[in-house]
Amino acid sequence: MVRYGPCHKRREASMRARPERYPLRFLGGRLCLDFVNSVENRASPAPEEFLTSYPALTRWGRQRGLLAEEDEARVLALAEQQPASAARALDEALALREALHRVFLALATAGEPDLNDLEYLQRVYADALAHARLRRQEDRFEWDWPATDEQLAWAQWLVAHSAAQLLTEGDLGRVRVCANPDGCGWLFYDGSKNGSRRWCSMEGCGSQVKMRRQYARRRAGAAAVPAPRSS
Ligand SMILES: [Zn+2]
Repeated sequence: MVRYGPCHKRREASMRARPERYPLRFLGGRLCLDFVNSVENRASPAPEEFLTSYPALTRWGRQRGLLAEEDEARVLALAEQQPASAARALDEALALREALHRVFLALATAGEPDLNDLEYLQRVYADALAHARLRRQEDRFEWDWPATDEQLAWAQWLVAHSAAQLLTEGDLGRVRVCANPDGCGWLFYDGSKNGSRRWCSMEGCGSQVKMRRQYARRRAGAAAVPAPRSS
């Protein structure tokens, strides 16, 4: 078991819990970016945390298609037997998430990632590969993480693999941050043909910003009409 060290801040202490009744949304286009987006309103003064507990993490993994129903039941049972290990796995997954947020936000805004964050990813990924097996997948092979007694760390292993793939094989010019100025802050991989995607979601942030602009234009137009004189 590798220890990653406490140097990475897990999350803002002030972050509120995102109520479970809100559905999870996966708009990042890459697993690692969806994981980074497990904080709602990330760039606002009041971000909300989805991953407030180990069961919340497994729920996320299940809905993202990483855990089958029986896998989720198995890791939840294991987490109940080993609460300290489960708490550590959650802490480590969140530390990786915050490091990846800094890395991909830097890339999305023409900055350079911090070397400490890249080293952190390297350590998690090396640990992930130490537990992986190559598995035949039709005409090629894929990394696979078989069930072991250390399977509580599945989230960080899969996310680290996705992040390493994106950094080494992806078109980094297509890593973007949502253009909603109201604190969305979600990251996504722009897979559109002409590379012009601006919003995490057209229906959400895109239409919100457009409606606000239309409203502002209407108000500006109304203000420009001189008020009738009362005589
Ligand atoms: Zn957005």
